Amino acid sequence: RSGFVTIVGRPNVGKSTLMNQLIGEKIAIISDKPQTTRNKIQCILNDEDFQIIFLDTPGIHKPKHKLGEYMVKVASDTLKEVDVVLFVVDEGTHIGPGDRFIMDQLENIKTPIILVMNKIDKMKQEEFNLLYEAYRESGLFHDIIGISALEGANLNSLIHKISELL
Ligand code: GDP
Ligand code: MG
Repeated sequence: RSGFVTIVGRPNVGKSTLMNQLIGEKIAIISDKPQTTRNKIQCILNDEDFQIIFLDTPGIHKPKHKLGEYMVKVASDTLKEVDVVLFVVDEGTHIGPGDRFIMDQLENIKTPIILVMNKIDKMKQEEFNLLYEAYRESGLFHDIIGISALEGANLNSLIHKISELL
């Protein structure tokens, strides 16, 4: 089995940290080979039973001008072309406006989305529960998982969840 995955989320939620940890976890190839004109392979994670190809896709931001609107369109089109979307968020007691904006874009795609709650090492259990519940209520996510990209916590479980969707 093999499939394409992309990671989206606000700046500073830990997307790069997560990618680096995933590369460290299993044998991975970093490649600059373009996949399509807009998707570039960022790394390939090889397991005995499956291969996960992470694509570098344009980030989603609230557009401030026409070009921004076009870039958001490109980003959301890209999300339709992958097998799994990882939507990374970090700590907090509620869903902030930046995350809401991204969720609005995710509503229009049929691709399964895994919500990755990162930085659990910083979160109190109560905070985690509140946030978890808020995201669960949205009904937007195939699955929700708490991880610490920094400490490498729960990454095998995340990889397993992705592989089940390929
Ligand atoms: P990106 O902008 O989404 O790519 O975020 P980065 O990967 O650059 O991370 C932004 C900041 O969050 C950095 O200072 C990271 O060290 C920190 N960070 C990332 N993951 C974690 C985590 O699991 N726990 C904690 N405490 N900090 C994290
Ligand atoms: Mg980054």
